[in-house]
Amino acid sequence: MRFDWTDQGTPTVEAARCTGCGLCTRLCPDQMFQLENGKAQVVAGSFLGCIACGHCVAGCPTGCITVRGRGMTGDDALPLPPKDTQASADQLRTLMLTRRSIRRFTAEPVDRAALDQILEAATTAPMGIPPSDVGVLVFHGRDRVQAFSEDACAAFARLGWLLHPVTLTLMRPLLGKENHRAMRDFVRPLLQALVAERAAGRDDFTYDAPAAMLFHYGPESDGADAHIAATYAMLMAESLGLGSCMLGTTAGLSHDKQFKQKYGVPPKNKFGLGLVLGHPQEVFRRGIRRRLADVRFA
Ligand code: SF4
Repeated sequence: MRFDWTDQGTPTVEAARCTGCGLCTRLCPDQMFQLENGKAQVVAGSFLGCIACGHCVAGCPTGCITVRGRGMTGDDALPLPPKDTQASADQLRTLMLTRRSIRRFTAEPVDRAALDQILEAATTAPMGIPPSDVGVLVFHGRDRVQAFSEDACAAFARLGWLLHPVTLTLMRPLLGKENHRAMRDFVRPLLQALVAERAAGRDDFTYDAPAAMLFHYGPESDGADAHIAATYAMLMAESLGLGSCMLGTTAGLSHDKQFKQKYGVPPKNKFGLGLVLGHPQEVFRRGIRRRLADVRFA
């Protein structure tokens, strides 16, 4: 989808069903609604206009608001399941505590229906200001994942010039000291190892997984949008009994035209996280806490 900051959503109110409760006037972050003669009217927004966040549609008690534009259609209002089916805090904590990065998978394939559910979960992620410019490449089946892995490792090999010590030294003022060190001491050896393992017939990139997803985002988007979508997808996979592992090295593919061309990804898009998926071979028995570097109530 082409991202245009000046595009606006178009809210419409079906006046006959509007009760004049005024909720939309309070929910809209840009004050797009006001009440006139007991009915909601769409007015010019005070700041950006309608960004198609969907707050009014989600809140309206009679469902009489439709928003179209900025990626939203009349079909994007989904019924909410009953409140008592919502995961409790304990259930959510169990899901998050149980999830671990899985790098060994059984031979069992991943159902297409499960992939659809995972993708649907990603569409509910808070991906910044609409329209979401996040895309996903889905690789379903070991053969397709292996082709992806091979193409990605070939792209990493082509990145050699960019990660060459001389190039990195020249780029150090742009990268900054810490990034330069990370590229030199971590990213470069890691990508080299992935390429070498692939050449030796081993798959240390996608771990012989039976399914994979690769999240990418447009030049106007924040990379965080793709990461948040991938995180939602990962949690849904966990709830479906699938193991997953996030791949951060996929960001390197952003620099490879050939890879993008082959998979139909727009040239200016960047890759966020990859996600490999499958049925886990091993069971973990404990959750592991990762400490936050610093927490303070300021
Ligand atoms: Fe009318 Fe819906 Fe707005 Fe209430 S929330 S005033 S019913 S459009």
